[in-house]
Amino acid sequence: MKVYKFGGTSVGSVINMNHVKDISVDGHKKVVVLSAMSGTTNALVEISETIRQGEHDTAIAHINALNEAYNSRVSDLLSNNDLRNEVSNYVNDIFKDLLSNANQNHSELLHNKIVANGELLSTYMFSAFLKQEGVNAALLPALDFMRIDVTNEPDNFYIKKNIERLMASTPEADIYITQGFICLDAIGQVTNLQRGGSDYTATIIGAAIDADEVQIWTDIDGFHNNDPRFVNDTRALSHLSYDEAAELAYFGAKILHPQTVMPVRQLDIPLRLKNTMQPEAHGTLITNKTNGEGIKAIAAKDGITAIKIKSVRMLLAHGFLKKVFEVFERYETSIDMITTSEIAVSLTIDNTTHLETIINELEQFATVEVDDFMSIICLVGNQIIYHPDTPQLFQVLQDVNVRMIAYGGSNNNISLLVNTSDKLESLQKLQRYVFEGTAEVAL
Ligand code: ADP
Ligand code: ASP
Ligand code: MG
Repeated sequence: MKVYKFGGTSVGSVINMNHVKDISVDGHKKVVVLSAMSGTTNALVEISETIRQGEHDTAIAHINALNEAYNSRVSDLLSNNDLRNEVSNYVNDIFKDLLSNANQNHSELLHNKIVANGELLSTYMFSAFLKQEGVNAALLPALDFMRIDVTNEPDNFYIKKNIERLMASTPEADIYITQGFICLDAIGQVTNLQRGGSDYTATIIGAAIDADEVQIWTDIDGFHNNDPRFVNDTRALSHLSYDEAAELAYFGAKILHPQTVMPVRQLDIPLRLKNTMQPEAHGTLITNKTNGEGIKAIAAKDGITAIKIKSVRMLLAHGFLKKVFEVFERYETSIDMITTSEIAVSLTIDNTTHLETIINELEQFATVEVDDFMSIICLVGNQIIYHPDTPQLFQVLQDVNVRMIAYGGSNNNISLLVNTSDKLESLQKLQRYVFEGTAEVAL
């Protein structure tokens, strides 16, 4: 069986929901994971934020506006009276519930419940639509099987057992529809897999049911060699290895949630990226095979903080690095890049929740300098550190202030730390040099 996941744009309009139906109803049984309709999760996050700030009237106005938008979508999508009434009642109940949230005290749990509604709405609407079109579809509530544990990792045993049980209870269904993104935490409260998490839901399910393939259907024709939001003339890659895709996703390629690759890599399940609006395009196939030479793709991750830690004894004494790492370990803060010299170690983090405490602890035995608003630019490709063209990269970026370089940590990755204000220029210059061979390299 295959798992198909459709993102926000793919389910974002009645026309696109029709595309989703045409793609998924192909005579083969499958699981279909849906995101919220595009814009909905952002709207719900904003509603939650206005409630947190005590602006109840604004929250109520936003909720009513969203409710109206959904009412007209339901009328456009469903011509069958009974189904339309049933879905309208469901939608109105969700919005009634949201209105009652507007007067409650804000909490993390309330926030999580509010943002969960996007996926609940899209899947309920799409299930009714498939029923109207005569498709035998069953809705599997994600909150009945998707759970993470105390370390925020998927609780694979629980997920497998429960999704199998639910699927077995409706064996006649051709399409099993479920919500991406939302899940329960270890104590059974509503939470989620972080923004963009529906991709991750799809591969977690793929692993749980040992799928033949997981397909991520989105609004672009596959994984591009650079970020199309910032660079012109990027092109789709026909193939990537799990490691390459995982590295690019981790370092900011928005097309995949950073964790997406892990569940399918472990079981060697192919992962395919496809365009809902252009299904005939090849897309990108992600497997365990590595091919090609040199730099294959570039991604960038913002929100990085660089920390330089200098030993007060001038030379990096024995045990110094251990002490540094222990501080980050204690506050569960992972380190992305690291470089060392005789007197200092520089490293980067993206989670600054405990930054102040970390700095205080480091200052017990070191001097500490912190720079924020940094970005990591990540270049990925098969054996790129040995490729003859690679060293020229540094000339291409000679006008950019490169703060750190990680070269050789893996044969397939080079990471550069730059100020976020230099990110655009860096990505564009690298694109011209790497993929168009036209960069101005001063020799
Ligand atoms: P969905 O809502 O379907 O999950 P996303 O917006 O999360 O879609 O991801 C698709 C978007 O990711 C594309 O429209 C594109 O702007 C952006 N993106 C960033 N980097 C890449 C890349 N390397 N390749 C393709 N798309 C990328
Ligand atoms: N709806 C969620 C979000 O916007 C999850 C997803 O789209 O994957 O982040
Ligand atoms: Mg996404």
